[in-house]
Amino acid sequence: MAHAHLRLAGLRKTYGDAVAVDDVSLDIERGAFTCLLGPSGCGKTTTLRMIAGFVEPDAGDILIDGVSQRGRSAHRRPTSIVFQDYALFPHMKVFDNVAYGLRAKRFKAGEVTQRVNATLELMGLDELAERFPRQLSGGQQQRVALARSVVTEPEVLLMDEPLSNLDAKLRVRLRTDLRALQQRLGITTVYVTHDQEEALAMSDEVAVMLDGRLEQVGQPYELYDRPRTPFVADFIGLNNFLPATVRKVAEQAVVVELSDGQALEVSREKTVEDVSQGDDVVVVARPEALRVLPMTADTGAASPSEQSVAASLIDSQFLGPLRRHWVHVSGTDVIVDEHDPDPAPIAAPGADVKLRMPRSRLTVMPPR
Ligand code: ATP
Repeated sequence: MAHAHLRLAGLRKTYGDAVAVDDVSLDIERGAFTCLLGPSGCGKTTTLRMIAGFVEPDAGDILIDGVSQRGRSAHRRPTSIVFQDYALFPHMKVFDNVAYGLRAKRFKAGEVTQRVNATLELMGLDELAERFPRQLSGGQQQRVALARSVVTEPEVLLMDEPLSNLDAKLRVRLRTDLRALQQRLGITTVYVTHDQEEALAMSDEVAVMLDGRLEQVGQPYELYDRPRTPFVADFIGLNNFLPATVRKVAEQAVVVELSDGQALEVSREKTVEDVSQGDDVVVVARPEALRVLPMTADTGAASPSEQSVAASLIDSQFLGPLRRHWVHVSGTDVIVDEHDPDPAPIAAPGADVKLRMPRSRLTVMPPR
């Protein structure tokens, strides 16, 4: 692998007895957009602030282009940060807000004007240059904050929930704008959010955090398709969890037994590496990976990819683009989303049904 542009190496930060960030190591490629994703209090902001130089780690290091940033103050680091509340200077016009960083770095007036104008144009803000922040919409203020951060051409752009103060519609639109701008500038970006959809939509890579630690790092699809822990499986999208015991570990598949004795096969590549016979595990399945079939359906001659288990239908609801079924399997309620459904329901509530669980769509992991 090419050497990382930004490397976090064993970062740790405690406040009294509380461990805010615990041994976080992460390599980020040049130009990549990486999200730190996790619930409130998991240590995202503290990690970002350590990269920025606002918080000094107790242990570990931050390397940018191989150069240690330990002991360097924030304004000496090749980083720039955009805050949730934008932190624009209210008494300065847009132009001067954006020019601020360049003037602080003692750029010549001509260069300041040229760079600020180019950035304002890039961000579609050129017509607003003479306005004060109070005369701007939330979305415009956010873009000014971003312009102010990129005008100094930092090596690494840091963003802490920059869209969270905007209404839902605008947030979705600005996601696209922000990502397009980041790609145009090719700027290595670390973006903090607790919104899993935002993280999946924007990122090259997502680092999921829990209790100060990195729970899993991967590309959006990888996290969705192959979560490695129940927390990631639960935090990203909707998932079903069925308790089971490992009965056999073969080269191609793992055979598990549900608590009611029904057997299931799971592709070997979809199980965490270190399961062994006798382990208690959970079988994890996305609602859209499963199918509810009437008892009369011919489910084929037990082809493993087409395997099904006995279940009973609790309820079905027609929701337009999908029909959502609730079924009871081996003591657990499971959600099944049937996209593009037939108008007629499959069976009445209470009926025995088959639940198709293709082995390539199931994941096995240790319980929480
Ligand atoms: P949020 O999404 O709510 O901002 P977060 O994931 O960004 O959460 P952090 O702000 O990094 O989480 O906080 C991690 C933990 O460290 C929390 O338990 C928090 O209470 C604690 N913490 C953060 N800053 C301080 C501080 N200055 N003093 C004491 N404890 C702190």
